[in-house]
Amino acid sequence: MNERVTKTINSLNKNNINAFYCETKAEVVKSIEGLLKDGAVISSGGSVSLQESGVWDLINKPCYNYLDRNKEGITPEEKTEIFKSVIGIDYYFCSANAVTEDGELLNVDGFANRISAIAFGPKKVIMVVGVNKIVKDLDEAFLRVKKIAAPKNCVRLGLNNPCVKLGHCVSLLNNDKPKFIDGCRCDTRICRNYLISALQKDKERMTVILCGEELGY
Ligand code: SF4
Repeated sequence: MNERVTKTINSLNKNNINAFYCETKAEVVKSIEGLLKDGAVISSGGSVSLQESGVWDLINKPCYNYLDRNKEGITPEEKTEIFKSVIGIDYYFCSANAVTEDGELLNVDGFANRISAIAFGPKKVIMVVGVNKIVKDLDEAFLRVKKIAAPKNCVRLGLNNPCVKLGHCVSLLNNDKPKFIDGCRCDTRICRNYLISALQKDKERMTVILCGEELGY
C-alpha cells in the first residue's frame, strides 16, 4: 500500500467512513463475503467496478435477497419501485466517481437514484473503489468526472452525448474550470446531480474498500 492510499484511508476514517485496503479483487470479494449474512437484503447502483471486481456475482448469489434493477423483462415502473425500495434495506453497493486524499467521495448521477441511496436509506453503504479513482482534492475529482467517468459511462450506456466524440466534456473546450451547470444540454446528459460525502454522522454506515487493482472508471 503506497503513501497516497494510506493517506486517503486515514482521511476517510477521520471522516467517519470505514476504509480499508485490499490488494486484489479476489480479496475484495472475500472481505465482503465475510460481512454479509444469508438472507441480507441488498441493492446496488449500476457499476462497472462491482462487475469487474466480482462483487456483482457475489451479491447475486441465491443466499442473498438481491433487488435486481436489471432483471430480465423488468418494466420502467418496476425499476423505479426498486430504486424507491432501498429505504431500510441491509446493504447498498456501489463505487464512487472519485475519492479525494482528504477523504471525500464525489458521485455524479443523471437520475439520482444512486446518490439518494448513498446519502440516506440503506442501513449500510459499501463502496468498492479502485486506487485509480484517488484524486488530490474536489477540483480534481470534478475534472475526473468530466474527463474520464462521464465520457466512458456515456459510451457504456450507448448515449450520443458530445463527450463520446470528444473524449471529454464539451464544457472543457477552451475552459479548464467549468461550472457544475456547464456541459451539454442533451436530454441524455448524465452529469446532473452531484453528491459530496464528507464527514459522516454515523460512523458504522459507510465503508469504502480501496482495491489495489484498477476498477471501473
Ligand atoms: S455534460 Fe454532457 S458532454 Fe459533458 S460529460 Fe456530461 S454528458 Fe458528457
